[in-house]
Amino acid sequence: MNTTEVQKIADILIEELDIERPVEILLTEMGFYEDGCHSFDSKSNKHFILLSNHLFKWWSWTSVAEVLAHEMVHAKQTETQVLRYCDGQVYWNDKPYKDTWILGYWRRPWEVEARRNEKTLAKIVRNRLKEMV
Ligand SMILES: [Zn+2]
Repeated sequence: MNTTEVQKIADILIEELDIERPVEILLTEMGFYEDGCHSFDSKSNKHFILLSNHLFKWWSWTSVAEVLAHEMVHAKQTETQVLRYCDGQVYWNDKPYKDTWILGYWRRPWEVEARRNEKTLAKIVRNRLKEMV
């Protein structure tokens, strides 16, 4: 897996999810337990997706595609404002989440949604790449 391949996967996901703002993907050294991370920069009006270097060293194509798909779902959630951050407060469907960090990672609704869709999206990417060959 190289950066060109990652960009190819990203382009398909952007199209599939209909993400309008630019998405910049950065490969970086992350904590061992973190694979990826999404943030939106309102100043540059751009999504940033950080992917951990260890993904590329150790993980399969499918795993990288799933992590990327997961972060793209967060990009979509942010863009449609279903998921919002304001003054240190997280909102999901305009409902404030005061207990975000108590709730536990996998029970947060935006994580449930991202996790539910990552495998299907990775499969869509795989099929579309096959069609291109
Ligand atoms: Zn997530």
